[in-house]
Amino acid sequence: MSVVTRFAPSPTGFLHIGGARTALFNWLFARHHGGQFLLRIEDTDRARSTQAAVDAILDGLSWLGLTWDGDAVSQFGRKERHAEVAQRMLEAGKAYYCYASPAELEEMRAAQKAAGQPVRYDGRWRDRDPSDAPAGVPPVIRLKAPQEGETLLKDRVQGEVRVQNAQLDDLILLRADGTPTYLLAVVVDDHDMGVTHVVRGDDHLTNTFRQIQIYNAMGWDLPEFAHIPLIHGPDGAKLSKRHGALGVDAYRDMGYLPEAVRNYLLRLGWAHGDDEIISTEQAIAWFGLEGIGRSPSRFDFAKLESLNAHYLRQADDARLADLVVPRLAEAVGRPLAAAERDLLVRAMPGLKARARTLVDLADSARFYVATRPMVYDAKAGGLLDAGARAMLKDLAAVFAAEPEWTAAALEDRVRGFAESRGEKLGKVAQPLRAALSGSTVSPPIFEVAELLGREEALARIADAANGSPG
Ligand code: GLU
Repeated sequence: MSVVTRFAPSPTGFLHIGGARTALFNWLFARHHGGQFLLRIEDTDRARSTQAAVDAILDGLSWLGLTWDGDAVSQFGRKERHAEVAQRMLEAGKAYYCYASPAELEEMRAAQKAAGQPVRYDGRWRDRDPSDAPAGVPPVIRLKAPQEGETLLKDRVQGEVRVQNAQLDDLILLRADGTPTYLLAVVVDDHDMGVTHVVRGDDHLTNTFRQIQIYNAMGWDLPEFAHIPLIHGPDGAKLSKRHGALGVDAYRDMGYLPEAVRNYLLRLGWAHGDDEIISTEQAIAWFGLEGIGRSPSRFDFAKLESLNAHYLRQADDARLADLVVPRLAEAVGRPLAAAERDLLVRAMPGLKARARTLVDLADSARFYVATRPMVYDAKAGGLLDAGARAMLKDLAAVFAAEPEWTAAALEDRVRGFAESRGEKLGKVAQPLRAALSGSTVSPPIFEVAELLGREEALARIADAANGSPG
């Protein structure tokens, strides 16, 4: 059997992190089995569905690299098919028309509440002759659900879960206006799309019993179900915005790489021994439903950040430069020149070794594209006192005489210069760092000097030596 999975988001908001994890698991499972990963947009709630949300979902999935097979299916576009299936159940005696008015149902519920009974549809039209139908009342179609026995869900994560049928009432399949309910639409679509494995959040567990009843009424094979425990906040409570319940686009803006988010989401609820760093290739090779844990996972920003730092160090320098360029352009308020982008590519090995996010990376790269005079941060400004400025003036003369403008040659010069003055290397290197980068922390300073180039580096040293305002 070829595996078919699907991701079925409702386009009522952005692609949130829990949805992204569901999509990832479905994608990995399909890719692992050489099967298909389908995308269905559950847009039947016309009032709450928006095109902007559809776009945000497609965009988020694409950013994460979770490519779906074929075109995205619109659930709303299949409403005739949903109605047709409800009709078939009606004809087969598996469903019936219910003419109870909203006011009548309200009364029924109130009476059940007053009597301390569970509130559920009491089946008043289940066996009633349709010739009793009141005139002018459009009926809903309800499932004639089994009243005895139990419905069993053999879940691939949760194990066997059962519910007594007496506890489930006759759910509505088709509303009075002819539109399908969510439960009907999902079952018909999963069946028609050939979905073999339904992997989704365990908030859908109770829906599943009702969906199984619809499959059974139609005589359709059940797919395999796997309900993943939800993601909780670090304190174990429901995930809040502060704790990471954000759209995937927010993670992109915060400077995380898609491969880091993928690795992080994979580990949120799935394990392969003690492995923490798992490449996408490994994830495809290893992924299986048996690795999904049964308890809720906790969102941990620190872990995401350390994974991101790892993937930043591994990332291609040109790619990182291209990711950082728009952030820097915004920070400096002008577009960057091609030469500046090239400088960033060359500077990237030194920069990426220290960054945890693209935001850090852009911050730490900014001095490379800063326009003179440099703005010194407080510590750097403090370092550039009269003594340091005088020292930099002498150093500038030594540098100007250096024919070979390389990190190694400049380092030799500085060492010799410090020795000749009986100073420690740091006494010279730190003011030099302040002059060139405006800060007391930067990549290795001789490398910085080489990358800035003779002219720019000497100009920055001269600015600092002359006490240009910082
Ligand atoms: N549309 C549902 C949601 O966004 C998912 C339905 C399903 O996966 O069966 O929660």
